Amino acid sequence: MPTDFTATKAMFDLPEGVVYLDGNSLGPLPRAVAARVAQTVIAEWGQMLIRAWNEAGWMEMPSRVGDRVARLIGAETGSVVMGDTLSIKVWQALAAGLDLVPGRRVILSDTGNFPSDLYIAQGLTGMLGPEYSLKTVAPEEVADAIDETIAVVMITETDYRTGRRHDMAGLARIAHAKGAVLVWDLAHSAGAFPVELARDGADFAVGCTYKYLNSGPGGPAFIYVAPRHQERARPALSGWLGHESPFAFDPDYRPGRGVERMRVGTPPILQLAALDAALDVWEGVDLQDLRRVSLELQDQFIAGVEAACPDLILATPRDHAMRSSQVSFRHAEGYAIMQALISAGVIGDFRAPDILRFGFTPLYIDRDDVARAIEILARIMQDRLWDRPEFRIRGRVT
Ligand SMILES: *Cc1c(COP(=O)(O)O)cnc(C)c1O
Repeated sequence: MPTDFTATKAMFDLPEGVVYLDGNSLGPLPRAVAARVAQTVIAEWGQMLIRAWNEAGWMEMPSRVGDRVARLIGAETGSVVMGDTLSIKVWQALAAGLDLVPGRRVILSDTGNFPSDLYIAQGLTGMLGPEYSLKTVAPEEVADAIDETIAVVMITETDYRTGRRHDMAGLARIAHAKGAVLVWDLAHSAGAFPVELARDGADFAVGCTYKYLNSGPGGPAFIYVAPRHQERARPALSGWLGHESPFAFDPDYRPGRGVERMRVGTPPILQLAALDAALDVWEGVDLQDLRRVSLELQDQFIAGVEAACPDLILATPRDHAMRSSQVSFRHAEGYAIMQALISAGVIGDFRAPDILRFGFTPLYIDRDDVARAIEILARIMQDRLWDRPEFRIRGRVT
């Protein structure tokens, strides 16, 4: 039976009159989350107190919820664990990856990667010493740049600006032929379209859950370690909850079993409860249906905007195979246009220098929403409604 997206739409609390095209940046609130967090606070923390670590299953949450995320990214059961934020998980995956390829000291990435991933790689290589380095090339040159000097290829599958996608299986074949390890960042992939980590030969993967998985601001990140690496992967952030036996309080670190070793410290239980409730929305969602409808909505938006707004230049690839679940347009006045759009109830976001970014997710966006967004954007462009001083004032977050 095809997925009923009117049913998933009813599972979200979206404000009246808003078309929310920014779920790729901060997913909206699923209705069940508030009650679930309240229950965790009042019944578990409030009543069980410290006993809740055992009695409410808090200590297992990072791996239990990790298995739920694993199902959405084509990962084996027992290969994903939750915790910390994505930047921390990038550090862990890079450090473990470098360690698996002795004698090589270069991390390869692309210039389109999200800055935090590049900064983390710079911080890690800087700490390891002058022999270590981060090399970046243009996104379309990554495949050719993988040679026998590269230890780790760190790629964010979906470009956060344009939505362009890398070829996961193809890069894995090349990287493995050259003896390198692949680290995928799935920030704009998990929950956006079907991901097949196991099938496509990923070594490590990381991602956040507050984008397409709707766990709320600061929701925990995930890390995937392929089963073939789990017993050899060395955790650089060797915290007590990644220890084989945390409550032995052994003064010497011994890595925990499997992916559990990528846990660091006390897990964020309230945020994990929010994520756990948010993941209920995905029960019964066929990711192939999600993909099909996502592409239909994107195509509707692209066709409508191109017909009505000739000044907006499409930045997203037209080829479906190279697309994620977002559509971006360029315009020199992109910031003011986005502010005007937001004030009219259509929420997307702006990425410097000139990108207007719109996320599409069939869980709560339908064809009527897209038609409304096109109509409002067309009016703003045709009547130059963006050309007002208040739309040029920049907030801390764009
Ligand atoms: C959103 C995003 C991040 C954010 O990292 P946090 O540690 O969660 O703030 C990092 N990398 C990529 C590729 C992202 O898209």
